[in-house]
Amino acid sequence: MKCDEAMRRLLEHDNAPGYPLPLRLHLRRCAHCRAEEARLRAALEELKAVALSPRDMDISDAVMAGIERLESYRRDVPMYNWIGGGLAILGGIVLISFSDSFAWLRGSFGGDFEVPLSIVLGIVITLYASAFIATHLDMAESWMAKRRG
Ligand SMILES: [Zn+2]
Repeated sequence: MKCDEAMRRLLEHDNAPGYPLPLRLHLRRCAHCRAEEARLRAALEELKAVALSPRDMDISDAVMAGIERLESYRRDVPMYNWIGGGLAILGGIVLISFSDSFAWLRGSFGGDFEVPLSIVLGIVITLYASAFIATHLDMAESWMAKRRG
């Protein structure tokens, strides 16, 4: 189970004994979700402890301040996944010329087949590099700032 799925299931349940087994297993091995679950449980306990009277109902400032204190919840793809994906694409580009399917296609279409294939592979590696750069803009920005001195 991934973290976003765990968060979705966590929000569906309001008590720990009712958690399904996959969620309990995820919480056991994932420190981030375990901390989030503890925060949710603490917030629920605070809500139970506070008796709201009608004149106290304007809590929007307190809620907005609480939201601003929360750290953002985003999915981080580990760097080794990016490197593994890039190596898989590069390996595919190198190894495709040795494959039987490529030999068969070359036999069927002749040398004209290699130009469109090179264009497609170039687009694939360009899209991959664009996605990597777009998701690591903050890292690139600090690297550029370091280079400028
Ligand atoms: Zn998790």
